[in-house]
Amino acid sequence: SAKQNGRNCVRVFDPADPLTSDENENIAATLRIAVKNDLVSMAYQPIINMRTKQLEGVEALMRLKMADGTPLMPSQFIPVAERTGAIIELGLWAIRRVCEDVLVPGHAPLATVNVSATQLMSRGFALAVSTILDETGVSGEQLAFEITEGIDMAGQSDVIRCITALKAHGIRIWLDDFGTGFAGLSWLRLFPFDTVKIDRSFLSDTRGPAGRAMLEDIIRLIRNRGLKILIEGVETKDHTELMEELGIELGQGYFLGRPGPVADLVRVQTVRKARVARP
Ligand code: C2E
Ligand code: MG
Ligand code: MG
Ligand code: MG
Repeated sequence: SAKQNGRNCVRVFDPADPLTSDENENIAATLRIAVKNDLVSMAYQPIINMRTKQLEGVEALMRLKMADGTPLMPSQFIPVAERTGAIIELGLWAIRRVCEDVLVPGHAPLATVNVSATQLMSRGFALAVSTILDETGVSGEQLAFEITEGIDMAGQSDVIRCITALKAHGIRIWLDDFGTGFAGLSWLRLFPFDTVKIDRSFLSDTRGPAGRAMLEDIIRLIRNRGLKILIEGVETKDHTELMEELGIELGQGYFLGRPGPVADLVRVQTVRKARVARP
């Protein structure tokens, strides 16, 4: 990439730039062939309704392996995919895969998919999504897109236009990782979110009274806007007890279920149904 950009003579070496390292060059190359070569897959993590203890839905999380089988985590490849634009094709592939894997067979009532600003600002995104819904027979109400408050506010009006089009298809928009960015409050003001996911750092900070007071403040803020609350990073029984005390309706985390292949979801659901059916 340094060589390719050398022509422009303005690119200064920056060790923090993900595309200047060989490793990220490698990731970019992998991303280009990921769909065709079956290197990309989706993992599904349960979202639990804490009142009913039932599966409310699943979050779809992208997984990628290199051609030699080495797995990569989203924190390594999503930024590269966003920067190269590969996220646009991969993101649409992911939405179709989630419809076919989870929603058509009815393994969960709802699936959420993470969507980057790059996708929301790309031409034709909402139309491509509605085509996927038509072709798979999935209703928009079965789908929610998670966007993070950290996304660039520069393309705000394009993003709002896209979100409006998606909502017209019944797709809900969730705010992800709430409390980690700087723009959280403006986002809450600007967009018609359905559910807010409170970042897992708030739950892990609740050991002391200050952390807990902060979480209570955040909950009040979200509730006053009439939005649903999900808390991320439910890792212990103590966390679920705190959620009950605070009346948080939705939870997600390793204690409630780890991300896994769709087969895990089918197995859990089968066991759950058998338990319910037992007299
Ligand atoms: P996210 O959307 O906030 O997803 C939650 C992340 O927290 C996931 O990491 C999940 O595996 C992890 N997690 C779940 N429960 C727990 C827990 O109890 N404790 C801890 N410590 N972690 C937990 P993952 O899969 O590595 O994904 C990281 C991020 O990458 C996601 O954060 C999301 O922002 C992004 N991402 C993942 N898949 C996609 C995708 O298909 N498209 C886009 N645009 N972004 C994606
Ligand atoms: Mg998410
Ligand atoms: Mg999150
Ligand atoms: Mg996160």
